Amino acid sequence: MLCPDGGKWWQRNLLPATSLDNSIRTLEEAIARKPEGDTKRKMQSALRLIHSTMQSAQQRPPHEDTIASLTSIPAALIHVRPPTMQGTIGLDAAWTDALVQTPPRLPPELARRTRSWHFNLHEIPATELPALCYGVMIEHPEFERFNLRRLWRYVQEVSYRYHDNPFHSFRHAVDVTICTSFLTRAVQRQHERSFRNANLVVALIVAAMFHDTDHPGVMNSYLVKTRHPLALLYNEQSVLENHHVSTALALLEQPELNFMGGLPLEEQREMRGWMIDLVLATDVTTHVASLKEFVGAMSEHGTSGTGAGGTLPDTMVMKMVIKASDISNPARSLPIFEEWMRGIMQEFYAQGDAERSLGLPISMNCDRHTVSIPAAQVGFIKFLIMPLYNGLEEFVPELRSVVCSTLESNLAHFTVLAAQQKLVAVGCCGP
Ligand SMILES: [Zn+2]
Repeated sequence: MLCPDGGKWWQRNLLPATSLDNSIRTLEEAIARKPEGDTKRKMQSALRLIHSTMQSAQQRPPHEDTIASLTSIPAALIHVRPPTMQGTIGLDAAWTDALVQTPPRLPPELARRTRSWHFNLHEIPATELPALCYGVMIEHPEFERFNLRRLWRYVQEVSYRYHDNPFHSFRHAVDVTICTSFLTRAVQRQHERSFRNANLVVALIVAAMFHDTDHPGVMNSYLVKTRHPLALLYNEQSVLENHHVSTALALLEQPELNFMGGLPLEEQREMRGWMIDLVLATDVTTHVASLKEFVGAMSEHGTSGTGAGGTLPDTMVMKMVIKASDISNPARSLPIFEEWMRGIMQEFYAQGDAERSLGLPISMNCDRHTVSIPAAQVGFIKFLIMPLYNGLEEFVPELRSVVCSTLESNLAHFTVLAAQQKLVAVGCCGP
């Protein structure tokens, strides 16, 4: 099934019941304490509005996929939502700001573990991922000048828009956020003038969180081949990446979600521009050109950092950071990497099955009957990941000891497995 949750993800389109219950209880208590009068009457009518909004949200029918319903081509099977400015429940902005309770900061021990390259995100229950993601973000002091209540609402809203895909789920989004956070700190440690603009850092980490919003679990190539309406909408250029960023930024049009709302409009516009560029940079088809530009800039100008007196633009390094984070799984310790690998192969095979059933050429690594997983990983690491991490290591040498060495050891592991598999295939040794 292309949409693993059978299209029922809309049912999760509500804030966690406990969080809402607490907020409503707080409001009811506040109303009870108020003396009779106009203010009390207004608060009571707002409470009635909240109750009726919640009721209609719970009773509404499954979301109509308006983009998909425009056409009857097989691609309409792909489940996506058009970008919308609507949040999940339409609470009035003033009430929402007053009522939203942000999660506590991460306990010191958990905060310390999330800063380790080998933190195992698979151990965290899915229900705790939004709070963890928010907690990792606000560990960065750059977030202090932003509206954290709205940021928390925004993280939740974005999390509801991720599907329960085997790989491209909110768990992957949190993983990329944590990795981006790790690499950001490494760059800041290494270069005293790099990544010092708070807005840039926040744009980078938030973009990491929403970089795959509403991912349908198939690749761009599938949407293009099947002439999916999204491919037509975005002229076959970075179709999914355009959709992710457009969906995520549309939500920021809702004031109670706009965590940047306190900044001057010009600064907000600049941050949106950075976030768009960063998410578009995650399209792997741009990988070779971006890496070439980065490596070329380092060999021409040196690696003395960014900002005043530095030689590279912050924005160029940030693109490398989000790209490296997006494909960081093979650089994690082997069991963690293998867990991610199982998910991505499930997605690839589901796409291959769909392509076979539609009589389309099966995309690379998607044919469950012919793919060698170890050989695919060797190719992926050697030609895509290793050059990127080697480039980043030149700029941030501290990555050598943990990150790049783990990547090399995983490459060696899969090279041996691929060679064994090849020998078995040609009958040179037993299984
Ligand atoms: Zn991704």
